[in-house]
Amino acid sequence: MTLRRLPLVAAIVLMASGLAGAEPPPPGAGSSPRAAPAKPPKAVAPDAVRPTTFTATLTDVRVRSYPSFTRVVVETTNPIRSRVDANGPTAARVRLIGVDSDIRVEPVHDGFIGELRIDRAATDTIIYVSFEGAAGELKTKTLSDPPRLMLDFMRPLEPGPGRREGDTRLRSIVLDAGHGGHDSGTRGPTGLFEKDLVLDVTRRVAKLVRERLDVKVLLSRDDDRFVTLKDRTSYANRENADLFVSIHANGHRQADSAGIETYFLSSEATDTAARQLAALENNVVQFERPVAAASARPDFLKTILWDLAQSEFQVQSSRVAEILLASMTRALRVPNRGVKQAGFYVLGGAAMPAVLIEIGFVTNPKEERRLKESGYRDEIARAIFFGLAEYKRDYEQGPRGALAPAR
Ligand SMILES: [Zn+2]
Repeated sequence: MTLRRLPLVAAIVLMASGLAGAEPPPPGAGSSPRAAPAKPPKAVAPDAVRPTTFTATLTDVRVRSYPSFTRVVVETTNPIRSRVDANGPTAARVRLIGVDSDIRVEPVHDGFIGELRIDRAATDTIIYVSFEGAAGELKTKTLSDPPRLMLDFMRPLEPGPGRREGDTRLRSIVLDAGHGGHDSGTRGPTGLFEKDLVLDVTRRVAKLVRERLDVKVLLSRDDDRFVTLKDRTSYANRENADLFVSIHANGHRQADSAGIETYFLSSEATDTAARQLAALENNVVQFERPVAAASARPDFLKTILWDLAQSEFQVQSSRVAEILLASMTRALRVPNRGVKQAGFYVLGGAAMPAVLIEIGFVTNPKEERRLKESGYRDEIARAIFFGLAEYKRDYEQGPRGALAPAR
């Protein structure tokens, strides 16, 4: 197969205006695309500049569900042109012009979108999107390096008790115990597994919050089971949580590495150690999906982090990370390793402020010994609880702008 590179200018021409029910007619075609339900693809008026051969190959399709929209990211080998052929009422049809692909079905079933069907029509790829409920607005955007088409299917607004309008309370927190099941996380010199330690600490935090804070607490796992990184935040999104806190323990080849640190998401790591840790915690992604061509690339995670909604919550997330670290440092008398940024995949999918806490080094013999003690686990849980309580006050005292310290 020969791949021709399109000039960049041509690639930026995105024909979908992104307005549901108001798709512009394709250039050079007089027919209205609103004549859905689906015409056979061959009947679509020929595009004046349609390539007669493939100019790009579809390399990956990623779907993320958020409370207010479902984001489909289509990654291709070269920049492409696309067109929304139809949107609603029961399905949408997006045409990727000159794109080769493997025909397949990707189930979504998030209460809004049913599935994606990826099909080919001559030298185009067609993405059929079926809706489980009512269709909503479709917003499209192109990203480069690697070339991606982002399709945001907006859920139709449904006013109700689930939505908060002017409600400034911190109502619910998802506590996410890292790892689980066949993913043990880090292992200490005498055999303490990160997955067991963090589940126990998470449960202790949850108990305190339930007893003492007027906040609903949800756990992404409450036993020794494997949960994919994506499912952890999808759960928080489905539950409309106001905060996502992932609890982990650290590991390092240097046995004397010690202390606690908190993280929020960034595609740029604070330093080499932060980058290495993120790579370690992201390792589990390989358990989640067959290695697609795209995920074999070293920059895969960096790319998908840019696709995710978490970047919109960076300021609030850094605030939570600061408060929690300060609270733990005060209480636990361990080295403060600072608030850091790194590309943690688990945080990326959250549509709310999200942080990751490393409660200590299980690979440090001294810390491992402490981390095995029930009394010390209670101290950690209390320190996290006090941090959450402080963030709740901070959050509710608003104005919300007060959460955005200028720095
Ligand atoms: Zn971990």
